[in-house]
Amino acid sequence: AARLCSGAGSEAAAAGGPGAMLRHLARKLRASGPVTVAEYMREALTNPGQGYYTRRGGVGESGDFITSPEISQVFGELIGIWYISEWMAMGKPSTLQLVELGPGRGTLTEDILRVFKQLSSVISKCDVSVHLVEVSPKLSEIQAVMLTGGKVQPSPEDEAAYMKGISKTGIPIFWYRDIQDVPTGYSFYLAHEFFDALPIHKFQRTEKGWREVLVDIDPEVPDQLRFVLSPSRTPATQNFIQPEETRDHVEVCPEAGVIVQRLASRIEKDGGAALVADYGHDGTKTDTFRGFRNHQLHDVLSAPGTADLTADVDFSYLRKMAQGKTATLGPIKQREFLRNMGIDLRLQVLLQNSGDTATREQLLHSYDMLMNPEKMGDCFNFFALLPHHRLVHPDKKDKPESKSPLPPVAGFNELLLK
Ligand code: SAH
Repeated sequence: AARLCSGAGSEAAAAGGPGAMLRHLARKLRASGPVTVAEYMREALTNPGQGYYTRRGGVGESGDFITSPEISQVFGELIGIWYISEWMAMGKPSTLQLVELGPGRGTLTEDILRVFKQLSSVISKCDVSVHLVEVSPKLSEIQAVMLTGGKVQPSPEDEAAYMKGISKTGIPIFWYRDIQDVPTGYSFYLAHEFFDALPIHKFQRTEKGWREVLVDIDPEVPDQLRFVLSPSRTPATQNFIQPEETRDHVEVCPEAGVIVQRLASRIEKDGGAALVADYGHDGTKTDTFRGFRNHQLHDVLSAPGTADLTADVDFSYLRKMAQGKTATLGPIKQREFLRNMGIDLRLQVLLQNSGDTATREQLLHSYDMLMNPEKMGDCFNFFALLPHHRLVHPDKKDKPESKSPLPPVAGFNELLLK
């Protein structure tokens, strides 16, 4: 399912023609030697001229991979309800920033804003704004059409946001290239299939100790890339491998670590929460780096820039990088999270309200994609960062009986909306 079953549709011809990225990389490798997998991935995905996301970012049925929000509106609606339930549990603050990292086509935010509109009797007194962190000019255009009907304006150079607009439901929306540019304040962060797109370093244990996997040009075949091992330790082997590591192959995504540190610091200081949903593991998997093109697995070293490259998220690493600044919940399987959020009830209501067989079949099919353990139900996970006081009363130890119990966090427990 999804990037597990990603597939066709890439026009290999980019602005610079087919093979432009490969030629650029080959020149670079010949001039200065092998690069880390992280550097290769960064070039292939987000190079400003030829990167996969920069040029197209094929999210959706006609692209290279399909994601949960693109499969069913119910997915985004339940996440919208999660945010409203957390906003209520945190005492209904008067302002709230919804910050999405890597919003793709903008579908998830669109579905969340529709829920906010439907529940306006609950949330109307709150001053809501939307902040999207997106490096791809192509995808930010698609997001602008989806969310504002195309009514956006570029921001002056001296402003942190590069574009702004107003949603169809009247909410201000801002676009940034980096999380650091987003204003601070009480915020709900969202990262759906974002961390898996960030560059990873790959390491291999050898008889001589840890070595980093690098990407080089193949001397035997012109313009073909191959993996090699670093002849000695690299700065990354020194910094990212834990002494107690037991695996022989390890992937580390330091950029994900830095972003989680930032989110945790912001939540600790200004309040809010972060919801991360992605495929991943809890520090157990070894070799998950893979490519997708036209909904098919694609050799990661072939035709860079024309395929999505991705690696499973290591949730144990994200938890560690939160550095105790916030509490963490999960990872919990997508099917458990969505069931706790009430997906079964929502499906029943939609089925009852839909008259025609085709719509009913579509609803059942998309439910199966999201929930089936063989499809997206088991391999996708939800993980949250929350202020410590959301889970434990600060003075609980001293006066255990003095406070009413904190409401459970929806999704990770059953949803209780009062
Ligand atoms: N969340 C969407 C899209 C996932 S694809 C969905 O689930 O459908 C990954 C998204 O992250 C794309 O929007 C891509 O352009 C963006 N992205 C990738 N690397 C990024 C980076 N370093 N900074 C900001 N956005 C990035």
